[in-house]
Amino acid sequence: MDMQQAISPGELAYQLSALWQRQTETWEMLAEGLASLRQARTRTFHVNGWRVTAQCNPARIKSSGAQVDADSLAKRPCFLCTENRPAAQAAVPYRDRWLILCNPAPLFEPHYTVVAIDHEPQRVGPAIEGLLSMSRDLDGRYTVFYNGPASGASAPDHLHLQASRAGALPFETQLAAQLAAGDPANGQRWLEWVRDEPVRIAVTHSSRLPVIVLMGDSKDAIAAALREVVIILGQVRPVEPEPMLNLFATYTEERWITWLFPRGAHRPRFYGTGEDDFLISPGAADLAGIVVSPRSRDFERLTDETMQTIFHEALLPAESFAKVRDLLARKGGR
Ligand SMILES: [Zn+2]
Repeated sequence: MDMQQAISPGELAYQLSALWQRQTETWEMLAEGLASLRQARTRTFHVNGWRVTAQCNPARIKSSGAQVDADSLAKRPCFLCTENRPAAQAAVPYRDRWLILCNPAPLFEPHYTVVAIDHEPQRVGPAIEGLLSMSRDLDGRYTVFYNGPASGASAPDHLHLQASRAGALPFETQLAAQLAAGDPANGQRWLEWVRDEPVRIAVTHSSRLPVIVLMGDSKDAIAAALREVVIILGQVRPVEPEPMLNLFATYTEERWITWLFPRGAHRPRFYGTGEDDFLISPGAADLAGIVVSPRSRDFERLTDETMQTIFHEALLPAESFAKVRDLLARKGGR
């Protein structure tokens, strides 16, 4: 049962939009990040039937180059803790647990970072509750997402989510088109439904990149299904402290649509700061189709083939994903 008090539809979304408006006018760091985004060059690529956009955005260099090993984390002040954040960065409190902030190096307009009030590690368990309640309280106007501690999060030591306007990520449009295509015999379909009740679960066909989609109208049931998916990922590819993944949630027509990208690696093999390397560190937004390339030398060298390599190395290999699919279908109990 959901004991949380109701937030009236539109109220939180309104607060967020007012926060963004105010902060772009009063916070110079955000204004600069926004200018960098607006000037960013883009290029389009194709990866296994999906369209992805590369964004050349120098303001993202800190995030893409973030040192996330334990030693580096211990040595730096946590930039998501209240005492270390810029004084000009305002916050909208959410349900006594979270603070919603504007991301000063946005990948889209608007771009929010949602941080836990307490300094606690980035973990999918506590993130699930925040993702589900926030996507519903935002009335379907935003998509809320999570980067695992070794799957693109630049602060793996402080629990945080992000939010973008619904539809801002190219993958969302492609998924919405799939879900809307009524005829299951349609040859264009790339989702296979492996479970029906109480949560519908689908996996992508092997011709596509690995994605798991979950839909349902009960928050408890969808939270339980997500936790089960995480356990299955851990059985197929155990990683400490948790299976590698990027998770998204949005809410539409009184049900949640969530999806996750199971990961194979934190960064592609050619990641690095050297001349021949690519400073591209894929997180949730990248895998959902906005691949950030802070250095223009990398951006200009990108090809469909390089993009394929980034996605194939970042995501779970096909044979492992086939095991995940079988475990999900078997445990469906049909
Ligand atoms: Zn912190």
